[in-house]
Amino acid sequence: MRLSRGFIPTLKETPNEAQIASHRLMLRAGLVRQTSAGIYAWLPLGLRVLRNIERIVREEQNNAGAQEILMPTIQPAELWRESGRYDDYGKEMLRIADRHGREMLYGPTNEEMVTDLFRQSVKSYKELPQNLYHIQWKFRDEVRPRFGVMRGREFLMKDAYSFDLDHAGAVASYRRMMLAYMRTFQRMGLRAIPMEADTGPIGGDLSHEFIILAPTGESQVFYDAAFEEIDAIAGGYNHDRPDDLARFFQEMTSHYAATDEKHDTERWNRVDAGRKREGRGIEVGHIFSFGTKYTKAMGVTVAGPDGKPVHPEMGSYGIGVSRLVGAVIEASHDGSGIVWPDSIAPFKAAILNLKPGDAACDALCEQLYAALNGNALYDDRPDRAGAKFADADLMGHPWQIVVGPRGAAAGSVELKRRATGEKSEVTPEEALRRMGQG
Ligand code: ATP
Ligand code: MG
Repeated sequence: MRLSRGFIPTLKETPNEAQIASHRLMLRAGLVRQTSAGIYAWLPLGLRVLRNIERIVREEQNNAGAQEILMPTIQPAELWRESGRYDDYGKEMLRIADRHGREMLYGPTNEEMVTDLFRQSVKSYKELPQNLYHIQWKFRDEVRPRFGVMRGREFLMKDAYSFDLDHAGAVASYRRMMLAYMRTFQRMGLRAIPMEADTGPIGGDLSHEFIILAPTGESQVFYDAAFEEIDAIAGGYNHDRPDDLARFFQEMTSHYAATDEKHDTERWNRVDAGRKREGRGIEVGHIFSFGTKYTKAMGVTVAGPDGKPVHPEMGSYGIGVSRLVGAVIEASHDGSGIVWPDSIAPFKAAILNLKPGDAACDALCEQLYAALNGNALYDDRPDRAGAKFADADLMGHPWQIVVGPRGAAAGSVELKRRATGEKSEVTPEEALRRMGQG
């Protein structure tokens, strides 16, 4: 993308409605704009990040054997009456009526709908297990939408739903998703910690929230430093091996970790003083295992091995895809702007042409732009160098390639790594090679 033609409306001033860094930076770098309270339009730069996060989430869900579907945002009230949640859900649910007066709602989650899809088609235990997921917009009429996309009213969620014949199967599905989640967050450069959680309106017996640390987090968290050494990717855990899943689950649940709601001072006091860690946390995912709650309420059975009807056991697994854009920024920014992890950056690099119109600068920039094949934002605007440096830092591209007239004449560029600030004078070929693009 050429910046002179791009729709990337950056702001110099700090918008005063934004209380936390990620919200300020998302507005200032031109990622999103609010259209009404808690509802945002995603602009080109922001959408590229959202799509990159979605891609990682999707790859890890698919890897873990979940199958992607796409359920609608609008649901019939009827289904929610069957589960008994239509009245329980309260004011957070946006209720609407169609022209025939039929009661509908904008889905805040999809347990009922997926259970209905399942019951229409699955008749035998032989078709189990199943795990279905989608990445779809949700609406929750939050009392106090705030912090930009972190607590919106309309937000993008990945939600998966597992169906198993028995409890042992449900536990395996739960562990498989826990592994997928840890891998997902790690690939985004985040250290997430699973913490025991209340099951809330979804109900059930086993539940973990995935929390990342950031000073602006909404809850106080307490955890054992052992979590700082866990590597879900290098650990070599296989989703299909029950022993691996058990070993992984053991590793994830044997050390202390709790949010303030579930904090147990007695257990906390038993943690070695040198390993106690405390801070603020942001919830980026939440998984539940709730047995036959919905299959019983909605009368769903499959034929079991002995021919008798069985209620399948379910679990549901959410990731806040749009919240993650803000959460990653909370975890990775500095005084000059965003510092994107390579895996989700909107562009791998910015090419800064310090003298547009200079034949050598233009030629070198065009050559780099072509070599980066859609993965670079080319700052070809006729602006001052200072403004270009500031915008590139603000937008947070992992690399900056600075092309000035003196270097261009001598066949060199300056390569800067955003995360460390490290700069080096290299040939264009060497710059591409260091970026893994040569
Ligand atoms: P919270 O405790 O933050 O209100 P929740 O427990 O109600 O979230 P879940 O039903 O577990 O949320 O939804 C799964 C995930 O969706 C959450 O872990 C979070 O990342 C994301 N999420 C929930 N509510 C919002 C929201 N209002 N805006 C953005 N993301 C959200
Ligand atoms: Mg939750």
